[in-house]
Amino acid sequence: MTLSYLNPKCEAREHAEGGCGVFAKRFIPKGELISLWGGTIVRRDELDPSMPRFTQRVLQIDEDLFILTAEDPEPNDCFNHSCEPNLGFSGQIGLMTMRDVQDGEELCFDYAMSDGGPYDEFECFCGSPGCRGKVTGNDWKLPQLWKKYDGYFSTYLARRIEKIRK
Ligand SMILES: [Zn+2]
Repeated sequence: MTLSYLNPKCEAREHAEGGCGVFAKRFIPKGELISLWGGTIVRRDELDPSMPRFTQRVLQIDEDLFILTAEDPEPNDCFNHSCEPNLGFSGQIGLMTMRDVQDGEELCFDYAMSDGGPYDEFECFCGSPGCRGKVTGNDWKLPQLWKKYDGYFSTYLARRIEKIRK
């Protein structure tokens, strides 16, 4: 049984350099729902970073809560990070297009939109002019991203940012 929803206008494919990504199969306009992750909701103390595909399967959805996707790989596990993304969050588990997306484009979001802690940090080679170089669990604190991703942060991070902004 598939737990997650993926918009039929896109598909997961292997990257030539290894790993997988999600790509548009045709033009997708701004404001369309692309993905909803389904899975099991777990607390931070229930996470096991040594499990297979940990960073592919785990997404933070609230201060102490994470969603763990299905044990069998699903296309929704393949969304990659970009520092110049075309997707943003809708709620805690949804992704939507922030702009028009052309046929063949890879669909990415910025992990700063969802990650409020250090469970998935890495060097970024996304190649965008504004690439941060290193993606960390503190990137959501960058004021330039608050403006760039206004309305597209995961709900719990939007609440954190709202508090700091006041
Ligand atoms: Zn980057």
